[in-house]
Amino acid sequence: MSATSALPWAAAPTAKSGAIALYARWSPELDGKIAAAQQRLREAVMQHDVGLLQSSSLGVEDMVVTDLIHRAGLRIDVATLDTGKLHPETLALLPRIQVRYGLEVQVFQPVAGAVIAFVQREGEDAMRRSIALRKACCGLRKLEPLGRMLAGRSAWITGLRREQSGARAEVAFDADDATPDNPGRRKLSPIADWTWAELWAYVERFDVPTNPLHDQFMPSIGCAPCTRAIAVGEDFRAGRWWWEDSSKECGLHAQS
Ligand code: SF4
Repeated sequence: MSATSALPWAAAPTAKSGAIALYARWSPELDGKIAAAQQRLREAVMQHDVGLLQSSSLGVEDMVVTDLIHRAGLRIDVATLDTGKLHPETLALLPRIQVRYGLEVQVFQPVAGAVIAFVQREGEDAMRRSIALRKACCGLRKLEPLGRMLAGRSAWITGLRREQSGARAEVAFDADDATPDNPGRRKLSPIADWTWAELWAYVERFDVPTNPLHDQFMPSIGCAPCTRAIAVGEDFRAGRWWWEDSSKECGLHAQS
């Protein structure tokens, strides 16, 4: 377990339940962090205009970023990947976002024929058999549609935080994300310096919609077959591909 990424389980569950009761702590720095994150978002809009996109996993970090954008009075496109393997609780956030923010999230799905051929060839549980097959599944269901999502975009906004894992400990607010097709692209992570406790304090203060699975000890939520609840003292991303000895990344943000 890395020092940066263990969940701050300060206490056993109390009479109150849920992630807010367990984690929310408003720090003395949080007002300043909110203002700084919104300033980064304003500057991003000025620099990139329609080239800017928020890529949302619909996890709590990304929901907070969507809320920060809304509260700053900014209009930024929001998109998500529907891999075909998401929990119903995750997909149920889409209409909640529409009602709350008047925002239609763009949904990118994998190429159906490619997924069908992969499942017919390798089986539904291929990802459990090897890291290579797991990466192949992530490639089809996540990386390919992400490429379409980001086509023509000059910058994308993520909810990455340095505390999430050792692999994310150096996340920058504004990073080079150049590709051969898009040599100038930037990746922006406006809440990179936020803690887990600050995140949930913001959720509580502003009543941000969140996935109820976070209340069931799932700090990081991905596809249903590849996500489990974590135990006290485990890392944030320990519930992702828990059967693997890997860096717990699918290639969307950090290569593994
Ligand atoms: Fe496939 Fe699991 Fe990756 Fe989802 S997280 S794309 S189900 S291997």
